[in-house]
Amino acid sequence: MTDTTMTPTADAPYGGWNRAVVREVIRPTNRLVMINLDVEHRMPHMPGQRYVVRLTAEDGYSASRSYSVASAPSDSLVEICVERVDNGEVSSHLVDVLEVGDELEVRGPIGGWFAWDGVTPALAVGGGTGVVPLVSMFRQARNVNRLDDLCLIGAARTYDELPYADEIAQGCSVIALSRENSPHGRPAGHIRAEDLAPHIDGREVFFVCGSTRFAETASSLLVDLGVPTHRIRVERFGSLA
Ligand SMILES: Cc1cc2nc3c(=O)[nH]c(=O)nc-3n(C[C@H](O)[C@H](O)[C@H](O)COP(=O)(O)OP(=O)(O)OC[C@H]3O[C@@H](n4cnc5c(N)ncnc54)[C@H](O)[C@@H]3O)c2cc1C
Repeated sequence: MTDTTMTPTADAPYGGWNRAVVREVIRPTNRLVMINLDVEHRMPHMPGQRYVVRLTAEDGYSASRSYSVASAPSDSLVEICVERVDNGEVSSHLVDVLEVGDELEVRGPIGGWFAWDGVTPALAVGGGTGVVPLVSMFRQARNVNRLDDLCLIGAARTYDELPYADEIAQGCSVIALSRENSPHGRPAGHIRAEDLAPHIDGREVFFVCGSTRFAETASSLLVDLGVPTHRIRVERFGSLA
């Protein structure tokens, strides 16, 4: 159940480490996991922000990594989506081992630059797990009936490799697949100017998230289409697309 009256704040304090209990684990493929967390002392997040997750071994060794929030600010749990990096310390544990009832340490929400205020008309372009923070934006826009203010373009090699593809496909968004035709008939191929051009007019902020290669390609396309660089916000992580 969602409470759409909860307003995200730009300066949500993130403080120290908090306990988070794993309430739901969904593994749509053998490389991906969606994790729903009940975070103690939770502060509201802005769509686009992230948490840091810390794992600590019995011998005291600890490792922490950033994971973007996929849930809307008003959702009752904090959702993250993790792609396994081969031999990755933290992602392998989260994708392969984590179970409902486990506890994690988390710190957040963090990040003010790559965050959507929920009202400024935006175009969000994500590749692979780069769609995760954009899904939070999409869910927020949907919850408050402002889908006209947020267009989401999700790219991946195949439909099955795109996190949240079914949800993205139901919205007003575009799915760009490099190795197969998209459900709405877009021919297979890497993201290109024709995918972006119809969605630029009237947008004031542009979010780009994905692997370094994807982020550079998408940003260059936007600049070539006339978007001023100061309106483009980029976050780089992930390997798909
Ligand atoms: C702001 C931010 C938000 C992020 N959000 C998400 C998110 O929503 N979902 C998500 O899955 N990840 C996200 N990440 C990436 C995440 O923080 C970790 O870097 C990732 O999970 C790998 O950590 P690891 O401990 O498993 O791998 P590590 O043990 O750190 O790395 C293992 C090996 O893999 C290499 N490697 C690391 N990352 C990659 C990669 N992407 N592709 C190929 N090789 C790699 C390393 O160089 C190393 O050799 C985000 C990162 C940032 C900075």
